[in-house]
Amino acid sequence: MYQIDLSGKKGIVFGVANDRSIAWAIAQILSGAGAHLVLTYQNERLRGRVSKLAESLDNALMLECDVSDDEQIASVFQGVAREFDNLDFLVHSIAYASRDDLGGDFSSTGREGFRIALDISAYSLIPLVREAAPLMEKKGGGSILTMTFQASERVFPGYNIMGTAKAALENEVKQLAAEYGARNIRVNAISAGPLETLAARGIHGFLDMKKVHAEKAPLKRNITHEEVAKTALFLCSDLSSGVTGSVIPVDAGYHIMAV
Ligand code: NAD
Repeated sequence: MYQIDLSGKKGIVFGVANDRSIAWAIAQILSGAGAHLVLTYQNERLRGRVSKLAESLDNALMLECDVSDDEQIASVFQGVAREFDNLDFLVHSIAYASRDDLGGDFSSTGREGFRIALDISAYSLIPLVREAAPLMEKKGGGSILTMTFQASERVFPGYNIMGTAKAALENEVKQLAAEYGARNIRVNAISAGPLETLAARGIHGFLDMKKVHAEKAPLKRNITHEEVAKTALFLCSDLSSGVTGSVIPVDAGYHIMAV
């Protein structure tokens, strides 16, 4: 499809819930480039839907993983080690906050809501990288990618606690990139513009935000799932071998505008 060949490469993609998931757009493009994939799904409720999608990929394996559960994380990587023996890339495309915390006053955020949002959306990257690293070292290195949003740096009303979680996530990207760089394991994030997905639907005022994005962005439009996936393909491939610790905006240029 594109001129990047991932034949013989193996990867794991966390975060497919349905065909609108950013993780699904990424999985399709990576599989299309020849990579052999494991897709994880959050729980039994999502298994049927994700397995229908996985059937359309060439030879993808499915494993359950709720990232709030350390045992499930360990068991997924045992499964990956059994199936693949080694790993070239990992995509973390996971976020969660209670709907009550995605609207209203930020100062209303409760202790438990804060804990859950930060645990699922930010902390989870750390154990995934820790488990993936030994499998990547067997290949002489690897590439790890997570998904963020510009609310890490600027205030987007309604995004609330998820902005705090994305700030933590982006800081983790830098610290993990520094720690794992000597093992040739790269860690980067894509900061995507608004895309209509299940997670986005939970954010109050999301459609207005998307409209403003299209009006103000230098490219005068919103981005597509495919544009995020193309950047993911680049980051998972050797073409990005010199890139680590970076947050790459795929937002039609919105981030450069002041007004
Ligand atoms: P999505 O709802 O399709 O994906 C979110 C995923 O997180 C789902 O697959 C869900 O199952 C998973 N998840 C939630 N809790 C989990 C848990 N405990 N264990 C395992 N998985 C869990 O929505 P999306 O928009 O594709 O979100 C993917 C990533 O992209 C998120 O990090 C999101 O913040 C980020 N992002 C989205 C947008 C956007 O506008 N949609 C913009 C920038 C960044």
